[in-house]
Amino acid sequence: MAEKKNEQMEAIVSLAKRRGFIYPGSDVYGGLSGTWDYGPLGVTLKKNIMNLWWKMFVEDRDDMYGVDAAILMNQKVWQASGHVDTFVDPLCEDTVNHRRYRTDHILKDKGIDTDGLSMQQMDQAIMDNGIKSPDGNPLSESRTFNMMFTTQVGPSANQAINTLEHDLHVLSMGSGLDEHEIQKPSKYAQVIRDYINKIDTNVTYLRPETAQGIFTNYKNVVDNFYPDLPFGLAQQGKAFRNEISPRDFVFRSREFEQMEIEFFVHPDKWQESFEHWIEQCRAWFDALGLPADKIHDLEVPEEDRAHYSKRTIDFEFDFPIGKEELMGLAYRTNFDLMNIQDNAKKSMEYQIKGTNEKFVPHVIEPSFGVERALMAVLASAYTEDEVNGEKRIVMKFPEHLAPVKYAVSPLLKNKPELVEKAREVYQILKKKYGAVMWDDNGNIGKRYRRQDEIGTPNCVVIDFETIEGDGMVTIRDRDTTEQKRIAIEQL
Ligand code: ATP
Repeated sequence: MAEKKNEQMEAIVSLAKRRGFIYPGSDVYGGLSGTWDYGPLGVTLKKNIMNLWWKMFVEDRDDMYGVDAAILMNQKVWQASGHVDTFVDPLCEDTVNHRRYRTDHILKDKGIDTDGLSMQQMDQAIMDNGIKSPDGNPLSESRTFNMMFTTQVGPSANQAINTLEHDLHVLSMGSGLDEHEIQKPSKYAQVIRDYINKIDTNVTYLRPETAQGIFTNYKNVVDNFYPDLPFGLAQQGKAFRNEISPRDFVFRSREFEQMEIEFFVHPDKWQESFEHWIEQCRAWFDALGLPADKIHDLEVPEEDRAHYSKRTIDFEFDFPIGKEELMGLAYRTNFDLMNIQDNAKKSMEYQIKGTNEKFVPHVIEPSFGVERALMAVLASAYTEDEVNGEKRIVMKFPEHLAPVKYAVSPLLKNKPELVEKAREVYQILKKKYGAVMWDDNGNIGKRYRRQDEIGTPNCVVIDFETIEGDGMVTIRDRDTTEQKRIAIEQL
C-alpha cells in the first residue's frame, strides 16, 4: 500500500516538472534543498487557490480586513512572540557522516509515535529500539535547533567579526602554532558572534509565520476602522523555516506561503468562534474539491500544542505520503496581543462601543498552508484511467482552479483557413476567460493527452465543418472524453 502511495507521489512530482507546474529550486546549479519554483501552470494554480481564499474569507465577508505586512520585522517581534526561545525542533546527528535529522522524524519513520514525548524520551526510544541513522550509523543525542533564518538589516557587527576571524586565521596559519591554537580564533569568534546576535539590533529573522505581521497591525486597523467584535485580519504571504530535513515535495519546504487569519473575539465567546471556524475550514476544503472522507480532525493534546495555544485542531489529509497536517486551527488566547502590550508598552485594549468595557481581545487563528493545499489539490486531481484501451493520466481539477480553462486547436495546423477561424475563436475565449491556451502541436489525440495532463476541462477544435457548414465547433469534456458540437456563441 505504502509503495503504491509513493508511486503516486513520484508520478505527481514527475508530472509537475514535465508539464510546467513545479520545478526544484535553483535546479541548474544542482538545487537548494527545501526550495521549489513555480512554472507557468503552477503559478496560475497557486494564484487560483490564493485568490479563492481571499474571495471567500476577505471579500465575501463583512467582518474581515486584509493586510500585507513586511517580511522583515523588528527582532523584538520574535523575542516577544517566544519564537527566539521556543521555535525549535529536536535535531540529532549521524555520528559518522554528520548528516542531521529531526529526531521525531527518525522515530516516526520506524513506526514509533512521538506525540507527547520530550526530547530526552525520544533519545531514550532511539536507544531502546537500537535505531540507527538512515546510513546505518549511530545517532548522537538530540539538541534543540531554532528554525528561524537569521538575517541582518544594514551593515552589521557580525560582518566585522567575520573579517576579524578570517584575518586571525590567516595570521595563525603562518605562525607555526599547533592545530589546537589555530582553532582558537574561530572559537572566540563564535562566542562573540553569539553574543552580538543577542545584542545587535541589526539582526533579525525571515518571518517563520505571517501571524505576527497581523498582530503588529491590529491596533492600526482598530484605530482606522473601529470594527465591531468579532472581526478578523487576514494575510497571505511567504514564511520561512529552516526545516532540518525538508522532504515530501512541497509539503515540507524551507520557503512557503501561508494564508492566516487572526479572528479577534470577546474572551467569553471564543468557543462559538472556534466552532464557526471549524465549519469555515470545512467549507474551504470543499471549495478546493477535496473529498470529505480524506480529511481528519486531530484534537491536539496539550503537551503537543504550540506554546501559545489553549486548543488546537490539526486538519489532516490523506496525502500520498500518508495522513499529514494540511492546516491548523488554534485558540491563541490573548497571548500575542498581551506580549505586544507588555513589551512595546502600548495598550492593545479594545473598548466595546457605547460601554466602558475594555479588554485585550482573544484570538482564533485558522492557519492555512498554500503548498499543502496545492499538494492536496494535485493529489485529489491525479487520476489514471483508460481511454480506447490506452492508459491516460488526467488531472481532474475543479474547473475554477484549473490553470487553463479552454484549449483551442485547429484540426490541422497547415490549413490556413482552419487556423484563421481557430485564432478567432481563441481570441473570443481569451477575452472572456483569460486562461485559454492555443495548442496546435502534434495530432489531436496527442493534444488531448497533453491537455488532460494539465487538467484543461474543455478542448475546442475547429474543423472543416466549422468553416464550411454549421459554424459549430467540437468541444471535448476532459473527464468523460465526450465530444459535442456546439455553436461558438455558446462556449
Ligand atoms: P508541521 O507539524 O507539519 O511542521 P506545524 O504544526 O509546525 O507543521 P504551523 O506552525 O501550524 O505548522 O503552520 C501552519 C501551516 O503552515 C501548516 O498547517 C502548514 O499548512 C503550513 N506549513 C508549516 N510548515 C510548513 C513547511 N515547512 N512547508 C510547507 N508548509 C508548511
